[in-house]
Amino acid sequence: MRAFVEVNLKAISNNIKLVKSKVQAEVLAVVKADAYGHGLVPVAKCAIDAGATWLGVALLEEAILLREAGIKAPIISWLTPPSSDFKRAIELDIDLAIPSLKHLELIVAAGKAVGKKPRVHIEVDTGMSRGGLLGEWSEFLIAATGAEIDVVGFWSHFARADEPDEIANQNQLNDFEKKLAQLIEVGITPKYVHLANSAATLSNPSSHKIIVRLGIAMYGLSPDVKTMGSSQDLGLEPAMTLKAEIQLVKRVPTGSPVGYGGTQITSSDTKLAIITMGYSDGIPRNASSAAGVYAAGRRAPIIGRVSMDQFVVDLGADSRAVAGEIVEVFGLHGYSIDDWAAASGTINYEIVTRIASRVPRIYA
Ligand SMILES: *Cc1c(COP(=O)(O)O)cnc(C)c1O
Repeated sequence: MRAFVEVNLKAISNNIKLVKSKVQAEVLAVVKADAYGHGLVPVAKCAIDAGATWLGVALLEEAILLREAGIKAPIISWLTPPSSDFKRAIELDIDLAIPSLKHLELIVAAGKAVGKKPRVHIEVDTGMSRGGLLGEWSEFLIAATGAEIDVVGFWSHFARADEPDEIANQNQLNDFEKKLAQLIEVGITPKYVHLANSAATLSNPSSHKIIVRLGIAMYGLSPDVKTMGSSQDLGLEPAMTLKAEIQLVKRVPTGSPVGYGGTQITSSDTKLAIITMGYSDGIPRNASSAAGVYAAGRRAPIIGRVSMDQFVVDLGADSRAVAGEIVEVFGLHGYSIDDWAAASGTINYEIVTRIASRVPRIYA
């Protein structure tokens, strides 16, 4: 096969069980963005089997796909612009985040239209200046009192949880608790309070509350290798392996420019392999030779620029790799997801989520 992603569901299950064994809170499995590229429905089912009691997605479309797959667990969708089909969400028992007064109005109206109280999670901005109520908070406290909503949850999101010593985390936590107290004061007591992402789950027990929202860690990756250690340091198993086939192997003499722009030149007589993936598959175009593939038992670094559907690696003159062979692009043997992230100036989150849908996912 030209190229494929292997997803190790057992690793995902083990990662969730590890976290569950360490925290008192319920686990919400974050399966947005096609489960960080691992496949929405198979991962959601696996997460529930492993003990996650909630699912979280960004888009309503993602939540609807989960319901259509027969998944009954509570699901929160937290990125629903005003044009979203809130009526459908309410009919399907999908919990909605309320990040603004406008959302409150739209969701209440949709609930009235379908004759059902919407289940909502009030989202407050505690210092990230992204989602959530901020300047409208006092007005919201008045508007929410007596509104036709079932306030299931109260939540916020950390900006710098992957820097555990950063004071901003404590400031956000304090603001979160202050706003929760204000909500309770007006007579609204949400049952499910949640704040922690993976980094906070792994490093900050005071942030755990009732539910932790586990994303990157359930896929076996570190929220930040520099500040929190590697997957291995954290006891996590990366679940995604990317593999591709060698299109051809050829000998080239020393001094050969490789790829568009001739940006790299062979420094000796060597063998090159053409790998059948490119930036349209999600291989970063700016990946440096700090990444590559694992072929015939050794690392073969990228040489030259990544093209749309292919890239070239330097196998070394004595490599035994041949055309038709399947090589590991990233995985547990040669280059890791974190190696690819470092070689491309990005984070592991982007490496896994950017693998295109034209690359099939295979489950083990
Ligand atoms: C993506 C996301 C998470 C998970 O973050 P990780 O760092 O992957 O654990 C949690 N909460 C919200 C609101 C998110 O958008």
